[in-house]
Amino acid sequence: MNINVDSLNNGFSKDVEFNGNITLPESLVYHKDVYVQGKGTITNSYGKYTFKGNVVAKVTFNCNCCLKQFDEEISFNMLEVFSKDMTDDDEIWLFSSKDNIITLEEPIKTNILLNLPMKSLCSENCKGLCRICGHNLNDGDCGCDRDFIDPRFEKFLHLFNNKEV
Ligand SMILES: [Zn+2]
Ligand SMILES: [Zn+2]
Repeated sequence: MNINVDSLNNGFSKDVEFNGNITLPESLVYHKDVYVQGKGTITNSYGKYTFKGNVVAKVTFNCNCCLKQFDEEISFNMLEVFSKDMTDDDEIWLFSSKDNIITLEEPIKTNILLNLPMKSLCSENCKGLCRICGHNLNDGDCGCDRDFIDPRFEKFLHLFNNKEV
């Protein structure tokens, strides 16, 4: 995820390709180790280096509903600008002129966090866990009687039953 721009003269672009692991902040929703692959171009325009490309991140989630672990690929486009010079523009990432290396790790991290789904489900019709015994209902039924009726609705149900008789 490091791009050496030593020989990238003003007005020129070069193709870049990278892959590797990055570490996200701790969370209950996803696992912090993420494998990332990306490619794009980097262009030098008067000392401002623009990276434009696409990144695919393989994120391991815990299902919101049944807690099972599953992998999902998150793909996004990136356009980030880097400069060696201090600037007031907080959209621009600074990098050191000492080694002429732009590191994409921080911008990628930020982009992954922005692109994470609000809710992570192992499948659209995840059945969740049995609320009595905790069994994962996607693996089959556990036999518990889950038709427990909330007492607040019992009155209403009586009305409904009387009507039917
Ligand atoms: Zn699930
Ligand atoms: Zn059960």
